[in-house]
Amino acid sequence: MQVKTQREDLQNYLTDASNMSGGFAEKLFIPESAQEIAEIMREANERRIPVTISGARTGTVGGAIPFGGYVISLEKLNRIKEIGNDFAVVEAGVLLTDLQKAVEAKGLFYPPDPTEWSCQIGGTVATNASGARSFKYGATREYVERLEIVLANGEQLQIKRGELFAKDGFVRFPTVEGNLKNVKIPTYLQPETRKNTSGYFTSSKLDAIDLFIGSEGTLGIITEIELKLLPKPIGFLSGIVFFKHENDLLNLVNEARKESFETRQIQNPKSEIQNRLDASLLEYFDDQALKFISEKFPETPENMAGAIFFEQETNESNEDALFEKWNELLEKHNAEIDRSWFAINEQDLEKMRAFRHALPVSVNEKVVRNKQRKIGTDMAVPDDKFKSFLRFYKQKLIESGIEYVIFGHIGDNHLHANLLPKNDEEAKRAKHLYGRFIAQSVMMGGTISAEHGIGKLKRNYLYVMYGERYLNEMAELKKEFDPNSILSRGNMFDEKFLAT
Ligand SMILES: Cc1cc2nc3c(=O)[nH]c(=O)nc-3n(C[C@H](O)[C@H](O)[C@H](O)COP(=O)(O)OP(=O)(O)OC[C@H]3O[C@@H](n4cnc5c(N)ncnc54)[C@H](O)[C@@H]3O)c2cc1C
Repeated sequence: MQVKTQREDLQNYLTDASNMSGGFAEKLFIPESAQEIAEIMREANERRIPVTISGARTGTVGGAIPFGGYVISLEKLNRIKEIGNDFAVVEAGVLLTDLQKAVEAKGLFYPPDPTEWSCQIGGTVATNASGARSFKYGATREYVERLEIVLANGEQLQIKRGELFAKDGFVRFPTVEGNLKNVKIPTYLQPETRKNTSGYFTSSKLDAIDLFIGSEGTLGIITEIELKLLPKPIGFLSGIVFFKHENDLLNLVNEARKESFETRQIQNPKSEIQNRLDASLLEYFDDQALKFISEKFPETPENMAGAIFFEQETNESNEDALFEKWNELLEKHNAEIDRSWFAINEQDLEKMRAFRHALPVSVNEKVVRNKQRKIGTDMAVPDDKFKSFLRFYKQKLIESGIEYVIFGHIGDNHLHANLLPKNDEEAKRAKHLYGRFIAQSVMMGGTISAEHGIGKLKRNYLYVMYGERYLNEMAELKKEFDPNSILSRGNMFDEKFLAT
């Protein structure tokens, strides 16, 4: 195991994709096995030294940034141990890009795709990462079948989905060493959104494994993961479709979403779903996003209210029928079909990819020019609240006069509004506006974070969402696993909740 203490060796481990500054640590450990991690944790726990878990540090909320103590990097636990017909067993430090390559080579499919493939599988489990195809396939949680975990005191857990459940509000976790952790589960209800990464997952019939997925390193260190794999889809059709009127666009999304959900409810016979609409992704670009993209992509039609990027899986026998179905739906909702782009093979897809890529590139260039940080939202709301939430976003953003773009996972009612302040005064107002969006989302029964998690940057907003009582319940749960509160200090809730 490598142990490093020199400033220059630690430097890369003090930041992540959040650009949060001020991180510092005393020692960096790069262990090669769960046993080595257990040894570090036994010593840290006895001496009450804070420990921060470092994945690939692609997280956007400062979760992997240490403020003192030890850093444990999972980078050397990077073995893909097995890929079977419908499962993969990996160590936590395996990069998503390496797993995707190995799975693809076996003709299989691992759906979670949080855009940034340089992340580690352990990091994606710890943040319950999701992405565009989560509309059809759900978040990382849906694919986690078994976890191996090292707890704060060095004891270990092995949890398999479907084996251990909450009973009368408690879960009794047997450790590998033969002790029992009797954990009271939080009593709040999950928001009625399809995606949520705010706080611990809970439900009255909680499967114990779900408590650790999305726990952002606060309950234990994930060392090994068994993932479910699916057969690879055969073909697809896809399009970027432009609309002159936003109402048409929203009506199309509603109908495509409704039919996709109905299709997924049909279990048997398979022929019944053969020619039905079932989008695997439904993504949105608002008019401001299209303006940004047109800087890099001049073919973008002008004066459009927005665009939808959709994808549907196909096979040899339903490709034509499904193309016809989508065409009918687009015509019905007045899409600008002649000016839109469609793809049925990998080559055509290049254009779609370039189009999607143009947005973050242009936004980031603007951020650099403005010398201000962008402020990006990650909220999602229930289906029936989405239209008014989008209206609220737009009204407040237009009133503010601050430059912005809105884009993202409209199928899941989960959009990212990126505010791009030009100066300190605008930056201050943008932060205030962010707070208004948080309050509005919470008021509508939504979540403050649908995919990026809470980390250190959003913990005050978690308080807005759940309040004192439920944060105390989360803190009690954490203390059961980590009585000295050494693991991932500062993630999810303020240390005052952990004081004994
Ligand atoms: C350009 C870009 C686009 C992104 N797009 C998306 C997106 O579409 N959807 C999405 O969900 N996310 C997205 N993300 C962020 C996403 O959270 C990360 O990509 C990923 O899930 C984190 O993995 P990581 O290995 O980098 O973890 P880190 O950033 O290193 O850590 C994240 C958190 O998990 C904890 N952690 C890491 N490994 C472990 C472990 N083995 N055991 C316990 N805790 C651990 C850390 O302590 C930290 O709290 C994006 C990030 C970038 C930079």
